Amino acid sequence: MDLQEIIDDIYLALQPRLGEGKVADYIPQLAHVDPRKFGMAIIDLDGRIYKAGDCDEPFSIQSVSKVFTLTLALGKHGETTWNRVGREPSGSAFNSIVQLEHESGKPRNPFINAGAIAVSDLVLAGHTPKEAIAEIVRFVQYLADDPSITIDPEVARSETATGFRNFALANFMKSFGRLEHPVEHVLGVYFHQCALAMTCTQLARSGLFLAANGKNPLTGHTVVSSQRARRINALMLTCGHYDGSGDFAYHVGLPGKSGVGGGILAVAPGRASVAVWSPGLNDNGNSLIGSLALEMLANRTGWSVFGAPAA
Ligand code: GLU
Repeated sequence: MDLQEIIDDIYLALQPRLGEGKVADYIPQLAHVDPRKFGMAIIDLDGRIYKAGDCDEPFSIQSVSKVFTLTLALGKHGETTWNRVGREPSGSAFNSIVQLEHESGKPRNPFINAGAIAVSDLVLAGHTPKEAIAEIVRFVQYLADDPSITIDPEVARSETATGFRNFALANFMKSFGRLEHPVEHVLGVYFHQCALAMTCTQLARSGLFLAANGKNPLTGHTVVSSQRARRINALMLTCGHYDGSGDFAYHVGLPGKSGVGGGILAVAPGRASVAVWSPGLNDNGNSLIGSLALEMLANRTGWSVFGAPAA
């Protein structure tokens, strides 16, 4: 199987459709991104990299960061993390507040906004917001083995100025006694983690540990136990695409996490880590062309967590 040929074919086939979907504009800084951008990078467990399009151009990873902060929080707090956030698909929008009221301020899962805000609160434990943000950046640099990864301060500022929904969610949780730190501190961490700017190549590298039982095969670093890697993958599969998670599992069949910047990180356990970027979103806030690209990849390679590997 020639992965470079496959990724080139996908890029070519999708060319006429680039620009489809709606770029997120509720964060003003994201509205400026060219909707025709497309990048894809696959890294296999031997470190071979296959690339297409704008795969070395940084973009705002937004909610893909929730995978990394969850991993950090689990490292700090272990299973007690689950006292603060659930593990069930939400079936509602990424920024929904309705469910929170029914469930007394305990978010359904760590990948919807409310859940990720609870996770940011956990990452803040024992830190100032500045230290927590620095810890997140260092962690992502370590995962990707790339010290050049940074936060885009303009995106963080833009979201801080307009993140009224997230302020509502955080205040609501605070009113239920579900956040330990001041709302401004928690959201400061949350907005900055979402503003991490990464290329597809960097993002694919940072997800490699999830494809390899918790250990980055390129650096030799054990990031998490194999059991924890499997569990993070399970959450990505069931909750990583908001109320489009079932559809993504059906069409792609791999654990994945999307962000409103148009990025998706997908994990093919035992095989590869894949990042794709295309800013136009579908109705669920997931990259429209990015999801299609991953579906094409899954079809061509046969990669899926639901079937036995081809003999
Ligand atoms: N920072 C975005 C928000 O909180 C993240 C949403 C997403 O990427 O899905 O609205």
